[in-house]
Amino acid sequence: MNFHVMTLFPEMIEQGLDTSILGRAREKGLISFEAVNIRDYSNDIKHRKVDDYTYGGGAGMLMQAQPIYDCYMAIREKIGSHKPRVIYVTPQGSVFNQQMAADFATEEDLVFLCGHYEGVDERVLEEIVTDYVSIGDYVLTGGELPAMVMIDAISRLVPGVLNNDESAMTESFNNNLLEYPQYSRPEEWMGKKVPAILLSGDHKKVDEWRLEQSIERTRLRRPDLYEKYMLENPPKPEKKKRRRKKSTEASAADVTMQADLQEQEDNT
Ligand code: SAH
Repeated sequence: MNFHVMTLFPEMIEQGLDTSILGRAREKGLISFEAVNIRDYSNDIKHRKVDDYTYGGGAGMLMQAQPIYDCYMAIREKIGSHKPRVIYVTPQGSVFNQQMAADFATEEDLVFLCGHYEGVDERVLEEIVTDYVSIGDYVLTGGELPAMVMIDAISRLVPGVLNNDESAMTESFNNNLLEYPQYSRPEEWMGKKVPAILLSGDHKKVDEWRLEQSIERTRLRRPDLYEKYMLENPPKPEKKKRRRKKSTEASAADVTMQADLQEQEDNT
């Protein structure tokens, strides 16, 4: 998978992505990144200018359309015939999440555009951008950090980048749950013991415990995710009691409860 980043600060991208897991993945040829300097495509040979005042007034400078467009066309020429997805990182985009990371991870080439100053001339965005993506509801000085955040999250979903592909399956946001608490050696630290069940060797019990912990942690820390999880995994209705009360004995409450159970069963 190849990442192409259009930026005014290529050294930020190169230094930021070349260590640890991503650095090794690059060495192994699983992913590649190139940071392309938009300034190299300025028509202004003398000052290599890439920004100007905004029409209509207002504070700050805006990145101009032409250098970005020419930079993009140079990347397209390198990629070949197909039109890649182009992500403009912007606080005005959909908020990035694990599902979007998984979707982007299926692409062969991804192009990122990092804005700076007040942002980018709208016309070039209309011309080249396919996805507007934000990393959260706050404003940063530039798009380099958001692009790196996304590239990191996407890269670790590329097969082979993590040593253990299983860890991507069980960790936070898979199935709308946060990951369960984890412990390593020693068994006791500062008087705190590792939960006994994790030392029991009973894998079924460990899995059950972890699922319970994940659900509870999600409920407390991320009620929004918990709601989604519960919608997709509704609690199983309790089995009906074998010995039914005669209908004349059944209270109104029993009748409504049974109707609810029946409805839940019908929906599953
Ligand atoms: N005036 C713009 C913000 C400009 S911030 C506005 O109000 O929308 C400068 C650049 O930083 C943006 O062009 C964008 O590329 C990047 N940026 C800032 N905050 C961001 C965020 N939360 N997510 C993604 N990119 C962001």
